[in-house]
Amino acid sequence: MRLILLGPPGAGKGTQAEIISENFKVFHVSTGQLLREAVRKSTKIGKEAENYMKRGELVPDEIVINILISKLKEDNIGQNFILDGFPRTENQAIGLDKELKSFGKPIELVLYFNTSDEVAIQRLSGRRICSKCGANYHIVNRKPRIEGKCDKCNSDLIQRDDDKPEVVKQRLKVYKKQIEPLLDYYNNKNIVEELDGNKKASKVFLEVEKILEKRNLVR
Ligand code: AMP
Repeated sequence: MRLILLGPPGAGKGTQAEIISENFKVFHVSTGQLLREAVRKSTKIGKEAENYMKRGELVPDEIVINILISKLKEDNIGQNFILDGFPRTENQAIGLDKELKSFGKPIELVLYFNTSDEVAIQRLSGRRICSKCGANYHIVNRKPRIEGKCDKCNSDLIQRDDDKPEVVKQRLKVYKKQIEPLLDYYNNKNIVEELDGNKKASKVFLEVEKILEKRNLVR
């Protein structure tokens, strides 16, 4: 299956992507995570992207399209993947389609997690990530086994700079500007399914499973 997850920051896209990826053995790609890794390693892309990310702005399309396409090619995952955090603009969607067309493997489904600002803000303010491997936690909804430590690699958990309230406000503003054109773009292809992103992750996943079955995407 080739899926795109859309929704505001805090909609639970990363969490659902992880669950889908584990259950159906599909590769999960998060452009936010790829960019954070580039920033951590201080690569050329990381240096270019860092200031945009700190401000809660979108990183320019060209940079993000390149980083995503290289990842898709590097991992040879033309058949199956879940994109989380990409595309964020219509231009990115067009760029992705062009690339996939050359493999004859179009996007099959877009899951749109419609989520209220209140819920998104509550999730983002409590989110913690591993400073080393980037795994996601939440101080209430998804506690690590040992407080402040990553279950996977035991490194320290930190709050993302862009999960702080002033930046979250900006990220939600940017999201609201971009979502309608993106939804229009994919609605024209009849591949969008909307879900209630305010529900608990386990409930949302039950809905996701139903949609995947209905659309014949689970084999
Ligand atoms: P995320 O982890 O998806 O919340 O992304 C964190 C930040 O990375 C965003 O606020 C943007 O600055 C940047 N970013 C991630 N994905 C994209 C994208 N597809 N286009 C532009 N910027 C992105």
